[in-house]
Amino acid sequence: MKKMKIEDKLALNIFHVDEENSHIDVDTEYTDEEEIKKLLLACPAECYKYIDGKLTFSHLGCLECGTCRVLSHGKIVKDWNHPIGEVGVTYKQG
Ligand code: SF4
Repeated sequence: MKKMKIEDKLALNIFHVDEENSHIDVDTEYTDEEEIKKLLLACPAECYKYIDGKLTFSHLGCLECGTCRVLSHGKIVKDWNHPIGEVGVTYKQG
């Protein structure tokens, strides 16, 4: 069996997204760049962006790994929950 690249595996995932309601509450006014960089580097789905000194977040494409919740210690990620009901990611390749 041919070994797949991470990008190819991620592309197989299926997302059922509640576009209106994020399952993660992020303080986008947070300004400590050291803390922000941790999330930028750690999020495998690149949900966090930091452009021109402004932090933005999109829950669309979130892999529900919980890494940002653990790293943030409540500083940037104010609340983290799994999406409700049938919403969220369905993995196809682990
Ligand atoms: S749970 Fe994982 S994939 Fe989702 S935003 Fe946090 S670090 Fe990114």
